[in-house]
Amino acid sequence: MTAKRIAIIGGGPAGLMAAEQLSHAGHAVIVYEAMPTVARKFLLAGKSGLNITHGEPYERFVTRFGTAADWLRPMLDGFTPQDVRDWADGLGTETFTGTSGRVFPKAMKASPLLRAWLKRLEAQGVAILTRHRWIGFDGNACRIDTPHGQKTVEADAVLLALGGASWPRLGSDAVWVPWLQAQGVGVAPFRPANCGFDCAFSETFAERFAGEPVKSVTATSAVGTNQGEFVISRNGIEGSLIYAHSSALRDALQKDGTASLVLDLAPGRTVDKLARDLERQDAKASFANRLRKGAGLDGVKAALLRELIADANRLDARRLAETIKALPLPVVKPRPIAEAISSAGGITFDSVDENLMLKALPGTFVAGEMLDWEAPTGGYLLTACLASGRSAARGIEAWLAKNG
Ligand SMILES: Cc1cc2nc3c(=O)[nH]c(=O)nc-3n(C[C@H](O)[C@H](O)[C@H](O)COP(=O)(O)OP(=O)(O)OC[C@H]3O[C@@H](n4cnc5c(N)ncnc54)[C@H](O)[C@@H]3O)c2cc1C
Repeated sequence: MTAKRIAIIGGGPAGLMAAEQLSHAGHAVIVYEAMPTVARKFLLAGKSGLNITHGEPYERFVTRFGTAADWLRPMLDGFTPQDVRDWADGLGTETFTGTSGRVFPKAMKASPLLRAWLKRLEAQGVAILTRHRWIGFDGNACRIDTPHGQKTVEADAVLLALGGASWPRLGSDAVWVPWLQAQGVGVAPFRPANCGFDCAFSETFAERFAGEPVKSVTATSAVGTNQGEFVISRNGIEGSLIYAHSSALRDALQKDGTASLVLDLAPGRTVDKLARDLERQDAKASFANRLRKGAGLDGVKAALLRELIADANRLDARRLAETIKALPLPVVKPRPIAEAISSAGGITFDSVDENLMLKALPGTFVAGEMLDWEAPTGGYLLTACLASGRSAARGIEAWLAKNG
């Protein structure tokens, strides 16, 4: 095989995984990264406990990608959650499955894994040029802005792995969208995913409870019902339970202009039991005492109930129990995409072939979060980014074998 020159633009998990595959196959790979260092989002992901994949049964795992599930399936089949674990293990990062099924490196951090990965890439001959920003095409070549001025790079194949549109200060700023659209590539608008929401809380409530966790509660939206906790923020709500419902809330807001998350503030009790427990309370006792003794609600939970239902204290025991078990929490708008964990939207499926090559730009491939899919938190994002990086590398090899 003759070694080919491959330019990979973007040194996140998707781009680095493709670099690993293609350099292993003997190609000359150069990674062009706009930031002073690679994989900043991956490192940030590791700050709060890197969740690298998920340990649930594979058939369930693959359903987590919503409408993109069928399209992503072949890529995930080619690099399954077990493959992610084996790959990390091969880089000296042993993993374990937490009680939630999420899979973490034993060290919890991303930095040891990234260090070992970069070492492997270097040993395989991958050159990584940081502070090298792709600024568009020049015919078939890539224009790159470098600390020493602009240059034009020609390669036998190009992989764009530029990330989505969340946390732009880590590098994935989506400024490329109009450049690709101008070439005839379809790009669905980027929207926040796994994000918090603004709520119309009173100033007094927001000031008093910002930063307070609300636990444990059950939340219901169009995506289903699950138990967990969330946090009252200065503007509304955030945290893992909210992220799990964020796609449903965001889409409902976009479609209907309104959306509510329905909370069960007393998940351990049925409406009947709660109504009986509230009924038993001394009618002369204060509402706060009746709530605390009858329903176990105090602090932020009791305040949230009163914030959302102004006349809660006038409800009879049965109505109060029903309200506590199904309390609608209206959301006003998603927090800005710059604060979201990830983004929905990106390059549309019909713009790429089965090898992740752009139909409008033969020889240019795409991978990672810049493609139009989304998934909840829980290791699904990284798994799909790594799997699509692998897939694009296989696609590049197949294309070079045919056209090289
Ligand atoms: C706070 C936080 C926590 C997270 N935690 C988890 C988690 O625990 N588990 C999980 O599965 N996922 C998690 N994620 C999501 C995950 O990190 C991303 O989905 C993943 O990093 C996307 O990989 P990517 O390679 O597609 O893009 P990115 O990681 O965004 O990498 C894209 C790279 O391309 C570079 N680039 C962009 N434009 C150019 C250009 N014009 N020229 C050159 N280079 C360019 C960027 O600088 C960047 O380095 C988290 C995200 C955040 C923000």
